[in-house]
Amino acid sequence: MTTTYGHLTWEEVRDADKDRVVILSVSATEDHGPHMPLDTDTVLGMAVAEGVAKAAPGEVFVMPPIPYGFNEHHKDFPGVIWIQPETLIAFVTDVTKSLAHHGFRRILLLNSHGSNHPVLDLAARKTVIETGIICVSASYWNLMSDRINEIRASELGGIAHAGEFEAAMYMHLHPERVDLSKAATQNLHDPKSKFFNLDLAGRGGGAMLMRWWSEVSPDGTMGDPTVATPENGRKFLEAAIEETTALIREIRALPILPRKDHH
Ligand SMILES: [Zn+2]
Repeated sequence: MTTTYGHLTWEEVRDADKDRVVILSVSATEDHGPHMPLDTDTVLGMAVAEGVAKAAPGEVFVMPPIPYGFNEHHKDFPGVIWIQPETLIAFVTDVTKSLAHHGFRRILLLNSHGSNHPVLDLAARKTVIETGIICVSASYWNLMSDRINEIRASELGGIAHAGEFEAAMYMHLHPERVDLSKAATQNLHDPKSKFFNLDLAGRGGGAMLMRWWSEVSPDGTMGDPTVATPENGRKFLEAAIEETTALIREIRALPILPRKDHH
């Protein structure tokens, strides 16, 4: 049976193993520096999802991606398509509730755009409350911080947005769409800061401030794409697929627990 949800017939959906984990990739369409295309988050998120489907073909279905996200703070850069967080929560939960209606019990909202993280966290929680099924959200870089730090060439601050991590993976997948000759380092990490840290593998900051993107980045980049290589991109992607596959297996093994009303 295919792992591509859109290739299933309705009879195959009816008869499918409903404990397969349905992966819904949610990304964004936005500036990724002068060196990378608007579809970066969608291409990378789907490369992870499809890699998992190849690694564990009997255990998942992959939905068509939602290529738009919560990123109004990027709109000073041409090309950005932004969705209000309330709309995105409602849209994503309509998809998850549809899946629950058809009997699916396990969903992973696989995020590939930073600012979707809190939105998808809420969408997953809302799905659990409204349907009783298991719905998990995860930003894929958070599953693999140690492995990113083993592979990376850049300093802390080099992996945030259109930096080493994303540039390397996109170069591995589609080298013709990445032009590093246009890339510049925009490492905005302040080593003196105790609480602010936007590096994706830097274990997060204790506090969060998302400014207007054009206030903090002159060209849409945050990080150091100049040290990206396709070889490291292959390693990043393989690690992302392995760790996400491990997460899928944990989700498949989670028990469905009964509620108890204590009124
Ligand atoms: Zn991105």
